[in-house]
Amino acid sequence: MGEEERYEEARKRMVEYLRQQGISGEVLEAMMRVKRHLFVPPERSDSAYGDYPLPIGEGQTISAPHMVAMMCDYLELKRGEKVLEVGAGSGYHAAVIEELIGEEGHLYTIERIQWLVEFSTKNLKRAGYKNVTVTHGDGTLGVPEHAPYDKISVTCAAPDVPPPYIEQLKTGGKIVIPLGRYTQKLYLIEKKNGIEKNRKCDVVFVPLIGRYGF
Ligand code: SAM
Repeated sequence: MGEEERYEEARKRMVEYLRQQGISGEVLEAMMRVKRHLFVPPERSDSAYGDYPLPIGEGQTISAPHMVAMMCDYLELKRGEKVLEVGAGSGYHAAVIEELIGEEGHLYTIERIQWLVEFSTKNLKRAGYKNVTVTHGDGTLGVPEHAPYDKISVTCAAPDVPPPYIEQLKTGGKIVIPLGRYTQKLYLIEKKNGIEKNRKCDVVFVPLIGRYGF
């Protein structure tokens, strides 16, 4: 069996495992299309399809596949949407979002560590993703120049929801965000007439660092 076939088999096993955890069909199809081994450091590629986080350098991690799947599921991403991701990291989660919003959509992802801006940009490019813009900066401020967003996906844990996210979200839009320092919970925020905040599950994320972070 060639290397690509071996990765494909591992990807199928990962997706089958996620299916058993109750992840929706569309998210699973998207994850079947994204080559996760292209988003991890080369020395980790044999572990790319295990359901756990992996180090990507600079003390940061690529989130476990089930966490990426759950966050995408909660956001109910649709084709053509404009999405903001905070914490580009490896670019993997961005690629899954891209698969769900399609060529009609656009993803803006912001990363505070310059080396990871370059790592994620390179990974997304070689995996063939074009409708994604990676920027360097403090993502606690959002990316106001491209607002408003249909959805916001925050991949690091914040003390509370940064006010710019609420301002930059469309009415009817959703944010998924981990909150807390030592004990963290994942929240789904919905902007309707007011702001609805629903607690989902316990999580472990690296901290959001910046003006409205830690
Ligand atoms: N989504 C990433 C992936 O698929 O690999 C995983 C992201 S990792 C769990 C969280 C990322 O958030 C780290 O790369 C970290 O540098 C970044 N981060 C932390 N604070 C940030 C901020 N204020 N603005 C932008 N990125 C931030």
